[in-house]
Amino acid sequence: MSIGWYRKLKEQVGEVEAKRRQRDQANRWNAEHREQQRETQRNRIAKNREMSRKRRREWAAEHKEQEAAAQRRRNAAHPEKYKARRAARYAIETGRLVRPERCQECGEPAKVQMHHPDYSKPLMVEWKGGTE
Ligand SMILES: [Zn+2]
Repeated sequence: MSIGWYRKLKEQVGEVEAKRRQRDQANRWNAEHREQQRETQRNRIAKNREMSRKRRREWAAEHKEQEAAAQRRRNAAHPEKYKARRAARYAIETGRLVRPERCQECGEPAKVQMHHPDYSKPLMVEWKGGTE
């Protein structure tokens, strides 16, 4: 905004009205700016999540032994999860379960991941895209 803007406005509509309009304009600008900032923040969070997943995958690819050991520890700590996943994987291999092309939650085409809402029912799985 030019410096002369406010002086000109004051001459046209008086000081009280000029101040009110200046305040309105500032509020509008702030509101728009807030939305921009939120958008920037959302993008930054998404990008960070992507980056940390990527780093995680790269680390796992370079540390296969450690990764396998960690997986064994997780499996030992949560045998019910391990059994359910193993049974579901076997069901996929043998065609009893079919991995869909779309997320069951939002219907978008996605590389879906298997979720077990109840580990005692290993073939009852939900398929969801990984990004939400
Ligand atoms: Zn989805």
